[in-house]
Amino acid sequence: MNRPILATIHTQAFQHNLNRVRELAPDSKIWAVIKARAYGHSFDAAFKGLAASDGFALLDIEDARWLRQQGWRGRILMLEGLFHENELLLAQELNCDLVVHCEAQVQWLEKFEGKAHNPFNVFLKMNSGMNRLGFKPAVYRTVFHRLHSAGYHLHHMTHFANADQVDQQPSVGSQMDIFNETIEGLKAPTSLANSAAILWHRNALGDWVRPGIMLYGASPTGNYEDIAHANLSAVMQLHSEIIDIQELRKGDRIGYGGRYEAPEAMRIGIVACGYADGYPRQAQDGTPVWVFDGNNNGAGLICPIVGRVSMDMLSIDLRNTPNAKIGSVVELWGDQVPVDLVAQMSNTIGYELICALAPRVPVKIK
Ligand SMILES: *Cc1c(COP(=O)(O)O)cnc(C)c1O
Repeated sequence: MNRPILATIHTQAFQHNLNRVRELAPDSKIWAVIKARAYGHSFDAAFKGLAASDGFALLDIEDARWLRQQGWRGRILMLEGLFHENELLLAQELNCDLVVHCEAQVQWLEKFEGKAHNPFNVFLKMNSGMNRLGFKPAVYRTVFHRLHSAGYHLHHMTHFANADQVDQQPSVGSQMDIFNETIEGLKAPTSLANSAAILWHRNALGDWVRPGIMLYGASPTGNYEDIAHANLSAVMQLHSEIIDIQELRKGDRIGYGGRYEAPEAMRIGIVACGYADGYPRQAQDGTPVWVFDGNNNGAGLICPIVGRVSMDMLSIDLRNTPNAKIGSVVELWGDQVPVDLVAQMSNTIGYELICALAPRVPVKIK
């Protein structure tokens, strides 16, 4: 038998979440953002679960090639454009759309001889205030005209820095104003909204939305409460099992550094999952883990982490669940324990945890 840890990727949950995006943005086309191996879920699973999207947005041209080899005929967006000029021909062969965010990329496209017979769809990126990628408003219109006269099919694109500020200012308003002022009179389709904007700024959708995290069923803010009623489903379920049980006396300490001290006699379970699997070492005492309770009709209970997470194992408080035994199944995150709750207890966001699922964890696509 292998070590019992397993990540199950639910393609039905992908489909459900994609339908939610359609409901929230019925007039927009959807780029399903699948960078970082589909946020740790595997390209395979994303391709199966998100095939009803209008296009896939990703970073590496090799991944675009892989999608075409699988038979994907919809659109593909290179989210940061090309990294090298010598990828232009391949990108054209693969029929990719390109983000263009810097002067070098503009020059490559102006010189590109292949443009005459098959010009790219270009998503021209405006830096409307996030100050990461893109052209400042002052030069944006000039660049737009250059690429337009070179024969490319242009789209306006920007990215929000604060769309996840649910109630506060500044949110998307000032970036929207800058975007709208800058593109005035330049007719072209637009693309603005990430998951946070799709959920909370419905006036900022544009013609192509770009959901990432919500397709995976996690929260753009990193706070589970914010999506608790958004009708999204967790796509990744991380399961393992209890592989040992210890009976502690009052005052006994657990694991490296003895961070947790037993307040009374108690049973703890040792679970086959540690930071080398992608579980956060920062998880505090009290981080929820769900334990299947064999005698309870498939129901389970939350048994919090006690003591520091180690490389291959973590320990949980079994006082709630007398039925738990060696071999009991646990869920580290998924349906029962939203990944965002684990992230909140670990000083990070759900994005980071799902993306960091370790290669040693076997993945099953369901
Ligand atoms: C990652 C990314 C997205 C998706 O963001 P989420 O917060 O995961 O929805 C959208 N647009 C761009 C440009 C991105 O880099």
